[in-house]
This record gives sequence, C-alpha cells and structure tokens, in this order.
Amino acid sequence: MRFKRILLKLSGESLMGEQQYGIDTNMLVQYAQEIKSAIDLGAQVAVVIGGGNIFRGVQAESVGLDRVQGDYMGMLATVINSMALQSALEKNGVFTRLLSGINIQQVCEPYIRRRALRHLEKGRVVIFGAGIGSPYFTTDSAASLRAIEIEADVVLKGTRVDGIYTADPEKDPSATRYTDISFEEVFEKGLNVMDMTAFTLCKENNLPIVVFDINTRGNLARLINGEKVGTLVSM
Ligand code: UDP
Repeated sequence: MRFKRILLKLSGESLMGEQQYGIDTNMLVQYAQEIKSAIDLGAQVAVVIGGGNIFRGVQAESVGLDRVQGDYMGMLATVINSMALQSALEKNGVFTRLLSGINIQQVCEPYIRRRALRHLEKGRVVIFGAGIGSPYFTTDSAASLRAIEIEADVVLKGTRVDGIYTADPEKDPSATRYTDISFEEVFEKGLNVMDMTAFTLCKENNLPIVVFDINTRGNLARLINGEKVGTLVSM
C-alpha cells in the first residue's frame, strides 16, 4: 500500500451530479463505494467535503448578506453534505465519525485532534465538517490543515478532471496533463491546484497532493495501491 493514511477532499459541487443545486444521491452512493474500497484495502481515511453545492460565503455580499455570516452558512452547508456522506457510508457498512469545526453537539462530535487519530486507528472514516470553523477560509484549506494535523501521507483532491494541466482542458484542447510536478513549478506557472492558503500549507509542510478524477470508478483504490493516477504535486 502506497498511502496508509489519506485525506480525501471532495468539492460540494461534485455532489450535485447532473443537478444544478443540492445533493444527487447517486453521487453519494458512488463516493461511499469508493471510500469503502479504500477502507477495505486497509487504508485510514479522513474526508473533507465542501459546501459549494449549497452555499458559498463569497456569494453572500452579492445577495446583500454579510460576508462572515455567509461563510458560516457555507460551513453549515459542509455539515449537511458531511451528514449525507456519513449516512451513505454507514448504509455501505462503513463505520464513520463526523467531527465538526463548529460545535453542533446533537449532530456531530467537536473536532479534537487526538479523537480523530483514535477513530482513524480503529478503522473509522473520519469526516471533518464545518471547515476549520473560521470564516475567510475554504474547505481546501481545511483539508490541508487537517491532513497536516493528522499526519496524513497525502491529500487526494478528487475533481472532475483527471489532473493538473498546462491550461484549463475544458477551454484549451491543446492543454497537456502533468503526471508529476513540484510545488515550486505550480507556483511559477500560476497553475490552479488549490487556493493559495491551502497550497502554501501543503508546500511548507511537505505534504504531497494528488489531483485526480474521482468520477472514474476504482481510482481511489488505484491510488492507494500506488498506481499512477492523476497528477502528483510534491517537493
Ligand atoms: N468556509 C469557511 N471556512 C472554512 C471552510 C469553509 O468560511 O474553513 C465557507 C466558505 O464560505 C466557503 C463555504 O464554506 O465558500 C463552502 O466551502 P467551499 O467553497 O470550500 O466548498 P467547495 O468549493 O469545495 O464546494
């Protein structure tokens, strides 16, 4: 096994599937199956899921709301997504714990690092909800921070595209994909991997990132087994 302890980052938008908003249960089932395959291989799995399918803080001001209020709304949106994923995982027989950066004690545990580590050691999927619990951050930053805290081997960023390209492949058909790239090169070329805060956290703590296509079945297991999938960003 190449990666023993992983942090999987899923965007909220990926949960929409073909819909314009909200949660497509087919996507939930698919992601739950992917995560189960990682657990079956013996990997320790932590998950951070975004909230963009429900609400993003940056939208707040454009609709006349306060930005900070909007960010908290975004964080609560991630809790909704996390609960949905938790439920789908448990339907698949996977043990889970949802740990939140904002106290919502009727629904989830508070985030306590040592507790997260214990759950992982016991083979439970740990879902980190509510980002880092502070406004002006993103769930990418939460993914990087939590991954560093739990000493994950890698952040696996599941996206719609199969890696990092020289240009946006959805706009430029001549764009080519990197299989490996250094943190430095990503900076120099101004490539879009994660937001700067998230990316810098990984770079400064030497935490590799793999950007890969989460919608191709089996990719997560392939990555854990050491197959070359997506783009690896490392030192
Ligand atoms: N958010 C925040 N602090 C955090 C994580 C998230 O304020 O630590 C808010 C922020 O407004 C963000 C929203 O929650 O826009 C949803 O998260 P994100 O945009 O990262 O979701 P994704 O793009 O992955 O779906």
